[in-house]
Order: sequence, then C-alpha cells, then structure tokens
Amino acid sequence: MKSVLVLVDAIGNRRRMSAELTSLESDQPRVAVLGLGAMGQALAGALLSAGHPTTVWNRSADKATMLTARGAPLAETASAAIADSDVAIVCLLDDAAVRAVLEPLGSELRGTTIVNVTNGLPAHARAQEGWMRARGVDYVHGGIMAVPPTIGQLGAFILCSGATDVFRRVEPALAAFGRSIHVGEDAGLASLYDMALLGGMYGMFAGAQQAIAMVASGDGEIDPFMSDLLLPWMEQMLPFVPMNVNARGEVAPEFNPQMQAVALENMIEATRAQGLSDGLIGHLHVCLDLMRNAAPVA
Ligand code: NDP
Repeated sequence: MKSVLVLVDAIGNRRRMSAELTSLESDQPRVAVLGLGAMGQALAGALLSAGHPTTVWNRSADKATMLTARGAPLAETASAAIADSDVAIVCLLDDAAVRAVLEPLGSELRGTTIVNVTNGLPAHARAQEGWMRARGVDYVHGGIMAVPPTIGQLGAFILCSGATDVFRRVEPALAAFGRSIHVGEDAGLASLYDMALLGGMYGMFAGAQQAIAMVASGDGEIDPFMSDLLLPWMEQMLPFVPMNVNARGEVAPEFNPQMQAVALENMIEATRAQGLSDGLIGHLHVCLDLMRNAAPVA
C-alpha cells in the first residue's frame, strides 16, 4: 500500500515525503476522492497529509499529477476508486455531474459509503439519498465551509446531514478537512445550512462591491481603501451582526432602527447620485426594510 509520511523536524517544520512507500500500512480509513478540481485536490491533499490511503479519480486525468506524485493511486474509473475505499468523497461541479458519474454505476455501488460534498439544493441531496438508499449505499451529504487554501486549517468546517451512524463512521476521514458538524438526519439539511451560510457570505461580498464602487466613483484608490479601511471596518462590525437584527426582527436600543433607516436612505441616495447601478443597492433595501419594520428588543 502506498503511503505518505509527514515528518516534523527539529525546528518543528513539517516536511512531506512523497514516495512509493509500500512497506508502511496505515490504520486510517481508505478514502477515495472523486473530482479533482480546486476543492477536490485540496481534499485529497489533506487526506494524504493526514496519512489516509487515498485513491483519486477525475474525468480529466491530468489534474491528478500533483497527487500521484505524493503517492495517491489514480483509479481508471470512478467505480474502481469507490471499490478501493472505505469512504468515497464526491466533489464535483454540480448535482448534474454527480448524477452523470454515479448513476451509470447503479448496483455496483451496493455496500459502499459515499459522502457527497458537491454544492446543491436540499432537494438534490434528498433525491441523492433516496437513490443511494435504494441501491444499498450508506450516504452522507456535506457542505464544505472552507476554500481550498483553508482546508485542514483552523476554522474550516464541513456540514453533514443524513443517518447519524453513517456520519459517525465517516467522521475520522472528514477530520482531515476540519471540524465536521452533523446538522440532522434529513439529508437536505447540510445543503440548507450551506446555502444560508453562503448567502451571508455573498451578502458581505455584495456590501464590499458597493463600497468599492462608491470609492472608485470618487476616484479613490481601491487597494488602500480595501486594506486600511474596508477590511478593518468589516472585522470590527462582525461581532455586532447578531445584535443588529435578531431572529425576531428586534433591534437593540443602541442601534436605533430609525437612525439606521436614515443612514440607509442616505446610502441609497448617495449611491445613485454617484451614477452607480441600482444593482449595487439591493442589500441596502433589504436592510432598510428590516429597520423600518424593526421592533425594540422585548
Ligand atoms: P472546479 O470547477 O475546480 O472543478 C469541477 C470538478 O467537477 C472537476 O473535477 C471537473 O472535472 C468535474 N466535473 C464537472 N462536470 C463534470 C461531469 N459532467 N462529469 C464528471 N466530472 C465533472 O470546482 P471546485 O473543485 O472548486 O468545486 C467542487 C465542489 O466543491 C463544488 O460543488 C463547489 O461548490 C464546492 N466548493 C468549492 C469551494 C472553492 O472555493 N473552490 C469552496 C466550497 C465548496 P474535469 O477536471 O474533468 O473538468
């Protein structure tokens, strides 16, 4: 069995030895990674670093080069990769790609365990779970809350949903990526939480785009604006997110909703006065509606 050694030298640096080390047996679960895009490569790399025997497969074999150089066998087919694993992790572009790869395998999948971390709707995850159950596959749906460079780093986490006992069984493999969090037995829940968290992230990105466009429209310099003002400001405000509007639509007294509504109306008017597109102010309208309808904290 091929393995990868991670050595810690005298000054604490981790050095990875990629090699054809056939003599070392790993007691870690054998994992297959199907899909070697930016994320699949990061997942497979983290599994190798954690000492998992890791088989990889990708539609375009050339994307496996760095992983095979580290000792990961490249399976010729998705079916062979899954057969060579205790847990197969599927990380493809979308639900259609997952179906294109797995559906032709049908009953070959019986007795296998699949964790599908491909982005999709809750309905996709529930349909996948039903299809897998009908073919005797243990299935967990996942949502990756990390980007490729943060896989395996502090803060990275993987949302999971599906049968709790299957989740417990795949948890040791998922530990290579970060903290894994089981959000419920309904297979669609991980996608629901994933969509919710990504919505929060894209709301933040939309806010940043509007801020940048405002400064650019006044001929401001964007790079220092971003690094010296926008990012420190956003970081300073993050802890106040739950206080601004809670789940009941209540606003704390020190963040008077009428005061916020005035500022939001000014922001909308100022954005338009700079000649910028209405497309940049959708999130401001959402916040304005929240403030106009807000109740004081009970
Ligand atoms: P990439 O675009 O880098 O890779 C897409 C992968 O899907 C490739 O392996 C590609 O194969 C494969 N693929 C696409 N269509 C098909 C098909 N019809 N049949 C077989 N394989 C197919 O995407 P990422 O790796 O970045 O993302 C993968 C998943 O991870 C997505 O669901 C994404 O939402 C999720 N994710 C990504 C993050 C990121 O920051 N990158 C963050 C969090 C989650 P080929 O190489 O042959 O084209």
